[in-house]
Amino acid sequence: MTYRQILVEGENILKDAEIDDYKSDAWLLFEYAFGMNRTGYLVKADKEVEGVISEYLDIINERATRKPLQHITGVQEFYGLEFIVNENVLIPRQDTEILVEEAIKIINNPDCKDTGCHILDMCTGSGCIAITLAKNCENTKVTGVDISDGALEVAVANKEKNSAANVDFIQSNLFENINDKFDVIVSNPPYIESDVIDTLMQEVKDFEPRLALDGEADGLKFYREITKQSLKYMKPSGYLLYEIGHNQGEAVSNIMIENGYTAVKVIKDLAGLDRVVMGHFPEEMEEDNV
Ligand code: GLN
Repeated sequence: MTYRQILVEGENILKDAEIDDYKSDAWLLFEYAFGMNRTGYLVKADKEVEGVISEYLDIINERATRKPLQHITGVQEFYGLEFIVNENVLIPRQDTEILVEEAIKIINNPDCKDTGCHILDMCTGSGCIAITLAKNCENTKVTGVDISDGALEVAVANKEKNSAANVDFIQSNLFENINDKFDVIVSNPPYIESDVIDTLMQEVKDFEPRLALDGEADGLKFYREITKQSLKYMKPSGYLLYEIGHNQGEAVSNIMIENGYTAVKVIKDLAGLDRVVMGHFPEEMEEDNV
């Protein structure tokens, strides 16, 4: 069997399993199984396969069960860095890069940068946001928090993998074990309405951790909790930034305004959908926020 034939077979299996991006997934698994890039393939396409054909077909068949590609390859790229992923963490999404970009703008502003900025990433999961901020912002200390031990193991492995010295991870149910105050708090919390989870694609609902998805009945539980509790953990003139679902801009903005945040604004993603809500913590609130 030639490399071309095995790749076509992989594509056909995924097509029959109704995987949307079957060509791209068959190719990515081919690269992974045979360690061959496009150039290598062009040279070798019609040569007999050296190596174990069954290994490629095994992972193709795993993907055909709807297991996410990233759970097979074990990694996902995010903001130019590579992150380890498994069933204990949400797979980093490109949408979340919008949140990271907005946070970097604030953190790299001289007000924050010159004095040294302490950042909290609440519900850190794989640690993708915390580590990306740590790597892209000078003079910062980043704390990533998650309730899940399994997620924190992945986050710590990602810290090592990406040589991010200025980030630490803490196990905590929201702010329970947190004592510091922060210049910037970011969070991509679980925000899917419980009833909606069963309507999501199988890759998500059957393989990604429910804990990372479920925002309870109206999807807003964590925005309410984190915003309310953040008042005790925010330095004066700090910023709170959230990733949100496309239909949550108004509700999350209102939660922030009700809790005293000012200059609350919604930022759209590349598809023109609401994706980030951010607000400023006024200086005068600090005295009475405890
Ligand atoms: N902060 C992680 C991410 O954005 C995990 C988010 C989550 O588990 N809800 O990927």
